[in-house]
Amino acid sequence: MAQAIRQEVAKGVAECVSRGVQPGLAVVLVGADAASQLYVNSKGKACLEVGMHSETIRLPTETTETELLALVDRLNTDPAIHGFLIQLPLPKHIDESRVLLRINPEKDVDGFHPVNVGKLVVGNPTAFRPATPYGVQQMLIRAGIESKGAHAVIVGRSNIVGKPMASMFLQDAPGGNATVTVCHSRSRDLPSITRLADILVVAIGKPEFVTRDMVRPGAVVIDVGINRVPDAGNAKGYRIVGDVAYGPVAEVASAITPVPGGVGKMTIAMLLLNTLQAAQQSRLSV
Ligand code: NDP
Repeated sequence: MAQAIRQEVAKGVAECVSRGVQPGLAVVLVGADAASQLYVNSKGKACLEVGMHSETIRLPTETTETELLALVDRLNTDPAIHGFLIQLPLPKHIDESRVLLRINPEKDVDGFHPVNVGKLVVGNPTAFRPATPYGVQQMLIRAGIESKGAHAVIVGRSNIVGKPMASMFLQDAPGGNATVTVCHSRSRDLPSITRLADILVVAIGKPEFVTRDMVRPGAVVIDVGINRVPDAGNAKGYRIVGDVAYGPVAEVASAITPVPGGVGKMTIAMLLLNTLQAAQQSRLSV
């Protein structure tokens, strides 16, 4: 599915280029966090593969908030850049929310600016939808899994995954019209709630937390989690697992996403789609 979306984006990019606009994405990385470096490299590579202009801006950890805000101001008005994102987390001395607020909402392809959050909630189609829940929704649609009338239970309420996922499921639109329950670390008797799910989306960052007894037989299980667990048998000394105990849960679920190779594959594809959307919307507004 991710591959199909990338091909669709490449077609859209070619169409933009034929009209004289090459969609461009800039990714800003502050500091040397290893996982972030990996994501940033993948994003740059994926852009080039679909024919987009790509800029990766790496700044040292000591970068001040003022310097970062100046860069945001530059990208906000750079005509070659239709979308950009600041890779999170930022070093502690920089106020993340102040930086996110400074991004021009029309270029906010991560969809974290309050203007895009609000647009998503009210169902405005020009909203940029955060890539991870957007990818989950596309997976369900493309797999022919009907959310209309289903009970979607989301475990995790982050601004990046859980909350936008809930907004998407609530919309009166394809991939929406679900009855939505959102759980978090203070939810009482979590298993009794997850067992009510027709579609269970888990995004908590706890390795193999969701066990077989927490899933109703026949449910669809989407595992967003990416966790490193020690593994002496692996050359790297660790392996990647999700938030769901895949093997046992797969025995009862009607469909389940693996980790790695599931939701993670969709995320960058959706970021590319958002960047294409940004370029198309900017052409409309010219
Ligand atoms: P956050 O840490 O921001 O949020 C975690 C959420 O899970 C919080 O709402 C927290 O509740 C809730 N939670 C934690 N423990 C429990 C528990 N025991 N029972 C119920 N709820 C719990 O995480 P993110 O949303 O950013 O990420 C979640 C996972 O998804 C991580 O593993 C991350 O690596 C992965 N991820 C994967 C992506 C992909 O592309 N596949 C993209 C983004 C994230 P509370 O609010 O009460 O603290």
